[in-house]
Amino acid sequence: MKYVGAHISASGGVENAPVNAQKIGAKAFAFFTKNQRQWVAAPYNEKNIELFKARCEEFGFSADHILPHDSYLINLGHPQQDGLEKSRAAFFDEMKRCEQLGINRFNFHPGSHLNQMPVDACLDRIAESINMALERTSGVTAVIENTAGQGTNLGHTFEQIAHIIDKVDDKSRVGVCIDTAHTLAAGYEIRNKAAFEDTWAQFDRIIGRSYLKGIHLNDSKKELGTRVDRHDSIGKGVMGMDVFSLIMNDSRFDDLPIILETPDESIWDEEIKLLYSLEKNPA
Ligand SMILES: [Zn+2]
Ligand SMILES: [Zn+2]
Repeated sequence: MKYVGAHISASGGVENAPVNAQKIGAKAFAFFTKNQRQWVAAPYNEKNIELFKARCEEFGFSADHILPHDSYLINLGHPQQDGLEKSRAAFFDEMKRCEQLGINRFNFHPGSHLNQMPVDACLDRIAESINMALERTSGVTAVIENTAGQGTNLGHTFEQIAHIIDKVDDKSRVGVCIDTAHTLAAGYEIRNKAAFEDTWAQFDRIIGRSYLKGIHLNDSKKELGTRVDRHDSIGKGVMGMDVFSLIMNDSRFDDLPIILETPDESIWDEEIKLLYSLEKNPA
């Protein structure tokens, strides 16, 4: 069955995340483990952790369907030592927070070369950052999100993601999240059945289906190959509805967190209903 939800707010305490997810009829959710625009935040206390776990259980959210997102400040491939160290410390802190909450996967944007280092060296550095975090945590898979390739962001080709995975020591704890808006903007056509199948065949061949740990389901304001990252509400951008219907009716996307990161949070409940209405044989 499909587990559709949204990237909801955890403001006021991480224990509010499952409450906010439940309110919109979500079966999965994402959130920021701390304020995404600050480097440092207070650690969780026992009460935050206990309540988060109790509420996930109460509302029926299993760890496999919760996919937190990293802070926008982190750049695991940072070309400069100070920026790299800060990023690695922040990434480790967020991985640790996931571990504390009993969450088994953590989604992040791979990193940016900032025009200050070669692409391959930056990809190697990202893998090294992942290795460092995996060594110091347990039970949490580092989930690389594909990007639109805006600016100097890496991870917009399946080859770049495969390069990173190849250099990660513990392959059992690295995964991939595919964002539909980023995929289109990065130049992969997914809006009709033939192109959708072709793009996923490339994914399977270059990365491997076993690494898929989540989906970000977004419409896009920007066209194929523009390498501009602008999400839109479902059905309101250039994506069309076919890709969403294909995902909702493909058993290969069963049991994964499928997360909306669409701009109008007031309609997330309707978007979730709309997506489930596309299922031809609901579980
Ligand atoms: Zn993201
Ligand atoms: Zn995303």
